[in-house]
Amino acid sequence: MNVSIPKEMRPGERRVALAPDTVRKLVASGLSVVAEAGAGLEAGFSDADFTAAGAAVTLDRAALLAGADLLACVNGPEPADVALLRKGAAVIGFLRPLDEPDGLRPFLEAGVTAFSMELVPRSTRAQAMDALSSMATIAGYKAVLLAASRMPKMFPLLMTAAGTVPPAKVLVVGAGVAGLMAIATARRLGANVEAYDVRQAAGEEVRSLGARFLDVDLGGIQTQDAGGYAVELSPEALKRGRDLVAKHASDADLVVTTAQVPGRKAPLMLDEAAVNGMKPGAVIVDLAAPTGGNTAYTQPGENNVVRGVTILAPLNLAATVPLHASQLYARNVAAFLRLLVGEGGTLVVNLNDDVVAGACAVHDGKPVNPRVAALLAPAPSGATR
Ligand code: NAD
Repeated sequence: MNVSIPKEMRPGERRVALAPDTVRKLVASGLSVVAEAGAGLEAGFSDADFTAAGAAVTLDRAALLAGADLLACVNGPEPADVALLRKGAAVIGFLRPLDEPDGLRPFLEAGVTAFSMELVPRSTRAQAMDALSSMATIAGYKAVLLAASRMPKMFPLLMTAAGTVPPAKVLVVGAGVAGLMAIATARRLGANVEAYDVRQAAGEEVRSLGARFLDVDLGGIQTQDAGGYAVELSPEALKRGRDLVAKHASDADLVVTTAQVPGRKAPLMLDEAAVNGMKPGAVIVDLAAPTGGNTAYTQPGENNVVRGVTILAPLNLAATVPLHASQLYARNVAAFLRLLVGEGGTLVVNLNDDVVAGACAVHDGKPVNPRVAALLAPAPSGATR
C-alpha cells in the first residue's frame, strides 16, 4: 500500500497527518510512504526528517495524489485534489461529514473511499484511534493559555511583600475531554476552578482534578445516551443549567465553554444577560464555536469585546500546537490504518469490521455510515430540507 501525505492547504492549518516517528513505524511494517515537500515544515518536521524515517519526498503534488492508495490528511482534500485520486483509493481525515455532507459528493463521483476521523466509534477497541479526543485535549490546554495571555490578572495565589494576590476564579462549562483538560491546566496555574456538566458522571472526574462540581437539579431527566454522550435537553432543563452558569460566571475571571451535543447546534449556555453580568476584564473562551458557540455573543473564528468582557471563539486551536497535535493525530491515524492493511500489504476495506464501517463515510460510490447516508439521501419529492 502506498500512503501519501499531502501538504495541508487550508489557511491557518499547521498540522501534518503523519509525523516522522509514525512514518518510521509504517515503513517498518512494509508500507511505502510518500510526503509532499514541505508537508511537515509548519509542525516542525523537515523533509529530511521524513526521508530519514524512510519516506520518499516529492515536489509533484499531482503525482503524489495519483499514486496514493491511501491519502492521509488532516482536513479533507479540495474537490480538485479528489478528482486526481484514482478510483478505489481511500482518504482519511477530518472530513466534517455531519456538518458539511455535500463535501463528500466528489468522493462519491470519483469512487474514492472516505474515512472520517470524526466518525470513528468511541468504543474501547477504537480508543487509540480517537482523534477527536486528542485534538480536544490540546484545545482545552491552549484555551486556558490563550485566556491567561489576555487576562488583566495572574492565576496563582501570591503572598508578596507588596500584599496578597488572590487566585483567579475559573468556570468551565462542559466537562468532557476539552473541559477536563482546561480544568487541569487552570489548576496547574493555580486558579480556583468550578465546573458544570449535565452528565452527573463528570462530577467525579472534575473533583479528582481539584475543582468544584456545580450540581443542579434537572428534575431527574436523562442527560446522557448509552454511549455516554449528552443528549439534547428540554428548554426547561437547559434554562436551569443556564441560570446556574450565569450565577457563577458573574464572579469568574475566566469562563471556558465546551458544551456540545453530537450532531446538534451547541446549546446556549451564556445568554446576553449572563455575559453582561460578568466583570469587566473577564475572558470567555468558547470552544463550542465550531458548532455555533455557547454564548449569545460568540462570533465563530473572531474575538470580540462586550462591555469589557472579551469573548474568544477560536475554530482550530489544535493547529496552534502543531507538533504535538500532529504526533498525536498521526498515531490515531496509524492505529486506524492498520485495520485497512490486508494480506501482502494491500488496501482492504472490510465493512464487516465495526470500526472500519463506522468511520467509513462513503465507499464504492455509496454512503456507508448511516448518519451520512441519511444526510446525503435525496429529499422526498415535495419536501424541503
Ligand atoms: P463533547 O465535545 O460532545 O461535549 C463536551 C461536554 O459538554 C460533554 O461533557 C457534555 O456532557 C457537555 N454538555 C453538553 N450539553 C451540555 C449542557 N447543556 N450543559 C452542560 N454541559 C453540556 O464531548 P466529549 O468531550 O467529546 O466527550 C463526551 C463523552 O464521551 C464523555 O462521556 C467522555 O467520557 C466520552 N468519551 C468516550 C471515549 C471512549 O470511550 N473512547 C472517548 C472520548 C470521550
